[in-house]
Amino acid sequence: MENSSKYLPHEGAKCSRCREKASICLPAHRACFCQECFVHYFENAVERGIKKMKLDRQKPLMVAVSGGKDSLATWQALHELGLNTKGLYINLQIDEFSPKSREAVQKFAQEQGLDWSESVLKTELGYTIPELHQKRQKKFCSLCGRIKRQLINRVAARENFQTVATGHNLDDEASRLLGNLIDDRQDFVKKQYPFLPSPHPSIPAKFKPLYRLEKKEILYYCELKNIQYLNQKCPFSKGATSKYFNQTLEFLEDKMPGTKRNFLYSYLKKEKKLVYEEPFNTCRECGEPSYMDICGICRLKNSLSRDDIKKL
Ligand code: SF4
Ligand SMILES: [Zn+2]
Ligand SMILES: [Zn+2]
Repeated sequence: MENSSKYLPHEGAKCSRCREKASICLPAHRACFCQECFVHYFENAVERGIKKMKLDRQKPLMVAVSGGKDSLATWQALHELGLNTKGLYINLQIDEFSPKSREAVQKFAQEQGLDWSESVLKTELGYTIPELHQKRQKKFCSLCGRIKRQLINRVAARENFQTVATGHNLDDEASRLLGNLIDDRQDFVKKQYPFLPSPHPSIPAKFKPLYRLEKKEILYYCELKNIQYLNQKCPFSKGATSKYFNQTLEFLEDKMPGTKRNFLYSYLKKEKKLVYEEPFNTCRECGEPSYMDICGICRLKNSLSRDDIKKL
């Protein structure tokens, strides 16, 4: 497991909530917590997100899980808060990686007595991620991300879930926002809101329960809850530029605690909830909803059969 030592408390620090001995200090909040109060703080941050985004707690939630710390912490916190959840694991069939991530999901679900579904890429698309990578390396993560989003939408619709929760955390969201603002990608900026309503009856709403929590806080929550996540990067993750934005924000956070949070929250205050304006078509090949005549998955399948995937 990764180390969360950056937030070790100073000698004699007391919990801001119960005045017992503190085990973690959060400079951005000017607060320290004992273990029990930290778990309360963490789950309360998720609860606040649920309330702020006006999520209907009675509706079942599908949680997209990869076996990593963020998605398993998301699932655990939602479960602890009493929401009715089911996991969804997309099996990308990456050697040495997917079997371990699948095992982490399976073990977690078993221990918690939770139900989960699996979507296997070869079955859905006819190709595995390594097979796709052999055909196209350029901007591969963006292609893989699009495929995962489409499969998540399809499985959720098939299983009648109206909302899908994902494990994006405050660090992911703040660095993505920085990247999108620098490149002036306004469309992407809008779609960063932590709750995106459903734009079509067959496309679920999206919710990011951990958008108020930092990576270090998630690591500590996993440690306290004994969540056995997979601490291994996908072998195709090399070259992602998001890490530079993340490092920049970490530098600022270190000098000025709370910077990441202020940056993201000031955008959320300004931005209204996203209302989809794009008209939806129905894919003329598979009948799924699509922005275009042919949906992303069918365009991908077609280009794979013509062997011109590089153009996608
Ligand atoms: S790192 Fe890239 S290729 Fe690997 S799972 Fe994530 S998006 Fe897909
Ligand atoms: Zn306490
Ligand atoms: Zn289609």
